[in-house]
Amino acid sequence: MLKQRPLLIETLTAVGLILAPFILPHLGFAPNTVNRILVWGLFGVGFDILFGFTGLLSFGQSAFYGTGGFVAAYLLTRAGFPHVVTALLIGMVAAAVVGYLVGLIALRRTGIYFAMITVAIAEVFFFVEFNPLADWTGGENGLPGVPTPHFDFGFINIHFTTGWSLYWFLAFCYFVGIVIALRIVRSPVGTIFRAIRENPLRAQAVGHNIHGYKLTAFVIAAAYAGFAGGLLGVMQAFMPPDAFMFETSGQLIMQTAIGGAGTLFGPLLGAAVWLFLQDFLQAALGLGAAWKLVLGIVFVLLVCFLRHGLIGAIKDAYGFLSGDTERAKADKVAASNVATPAFTAPKAAPMPPRQRALDGYSGPILHATGLTKRYGGLVANSDIDLIVNHGELRGIIGPNGAGKSTFFKMLTCEVAPTSGKIIFEGHDITHKDVTDACQLGLTKSYQVNQLFNRLTVRENITISVLAELRGKFKLDLFSNMSKIPGLDAQVQHTLELVNLAGRPDTPVSELAYGEKRRLEIGLALASSPSLLLLDEPLAGMSPQERVETVKLLKSISQGRTMIIIDHDMDSLFELVERVTVLQEGRVLVEGTPDEIKGNAKVQEAYLGGVHE
Ligand code: ADP
Repeated sequence: MLKQRPLLIETLTAVGLILAPFILPHLGFAPNTVNRILVWGLFGVGFDILFGFTGLLSFGQSAFYGTGGFVAAYLLTRAGFPHVVTALLIGMVAAAVVGYLVGLIALRRTGIYFAMITVAIAEVFFFVEFNPLADWTGGENGLPGVPTPHFDFGFINIHFTTGWSLYWFLAFCYFVGIVIALRIVRSPVGTIFRAIRENPLRAQAVGHNIHGYKLTAFVIAAAYAGFAGGLLGVMQAFMPPDAFMFETSGQLIMQTAIGGAGTLFGPLLGAAVWLFLQDFLQAALGLGAAWKLVLGIVFVLLVCFLRHGLIGAIKDAYGFLSGDTERAKADKVAASNVATPAFTAPKAAPMPPRQRALDGYSGPILHATGLTKRYGGLVANSDIDLIVNHGELRGIIGPNGAGKSTFFKMLTCEVAPTSGKIIFEGHDITHKDVTDACQLGLTKSYQVNQLFNRLTVRENITISVLAELRGKFKLDLFSNMSKIPGLDAQVQHTLELVNLAGRPDTPVSELAYGEKRRLEIGLALASSPSLLLLDEPLAGMSPQERVETVKLLKSISQGRTMIIIDHDMDSLFELVERVTVLQEGRVLVEGTPDEIKGNAKVQEAYLGGVHE
């Protein structure tokens, strides 16, 4: 829906905001409640980009809400600043700057440690507001007397005061906030945010600087929080110190969970439920402080029974009414799995590897010397030398635990060698990271699929192609994906090569195993690497699928250098020109497939005489 009618959501939002003052009073909403919902909703738009889209759960958003709010309120009350909107924007910039600095620290860790750092930092802000900065922030009294916006256009003078009058100003701010957020989530950066949420390891391995993008999401969320914090002061004519409290961050998270994360509108809906229940339970039912008990129960029920919040439930209901139920989807998938044609060698010409200026370099594409990797006392790789020439197809075999995967991880810079050197196309890449290696044209497909599971086949491939076309970091936050030159063609080409062109809009989680394996190869191939490493591409496949995948590998190998690890020696020997045998982390022998088959040491150690 997002793609087919790009302005539909914006239009519906505008219509909804215009109609709200005429409808909501009949449902028992007071104007101040609606205004508070809008402020929470705008606060939540940024948080949803961080949490729902990028997968980063921050418990510290109150720090930015409070910072933006107090900077704007200070300017308007103590510093005599006359322009409300300019003060709000300055508060927003201040929050974004603080967000950048906090993000630099917090994003050094992931998961629970990231979350804990955000809690700690928010607590520091709370303390600072109450103590060292109390002269500026008013300490526990906050800053009273924040004015409402006033616009004098000469011919007309508009003053937004309180209640429904202020609503129009807040609704306009919310609308602008949503339009900007929709642009962001539809941009290449938004696509990479989702890739990070789904699989940060792979997003990094296909060539994106995920730290830079996470920091971007963090700053965006802080900017939204800062602007919303400023609006809180304007709405209440008073900047309350509790904006900085941990409870503020907690309420934001709960509202987002109730409404539905990853939807942009979830926090608004969640805030509506929360604030309506608060008013209703406290005032109408006279529950007083006990209202939170009821709210807690409602929250638990909603989160348990609506996995994707209220918006998810609305989508499911819509799907049910239009006959697109889970069951129907499952049937469709089953039917399409049956209907998936057997793999045939792709008609599309193989995608050429990247053309890079090699500055006159004419040596081997890869030259590893003395590569050693120790894990504590365990030596996974020891003193491995390997030379691979341009256009060569090399196989690597060896029993489990021989060190093959560790060797690949060092070559792609996923793990740093303990000692040794890796030269790729004349560049020393030994101390580079996996993102840089991919950007240079060296990447791998994984032994265990590393896909973006909740995204579609096309989105998966797009993520990889974006890294080649845009480089490892680019802030094209407002670009339209359809305007990126060459993107669609390269995605389509890759889909055809891996024979997935018939299922571009299928979510990865609904693919058959063989298709997932092909997509895994497609992700590596999509960035048109000049050296492609394949870690057990045939693992877990049926004999028929193996034959088909060998055909696929043959078709993509033209003009490209590939190194393939696999246990299926018959398939591997049919495919490669030379084979390197590893044993206990060392190179045992290297030669052509025939030499390896006839090698007594190899037969004795690995083949157990089957090829005698
Ligand atoms: P292969 O791919 O040939 O099966 P691996 O490279 O996966 O072999 O493993 C080689 C050895 O290194 C094994 O003994 C394995 O247990 C050890 N190893 C691999 N990764 C790690 C790690 N991250 N930490 C500790 N030991 C590891």
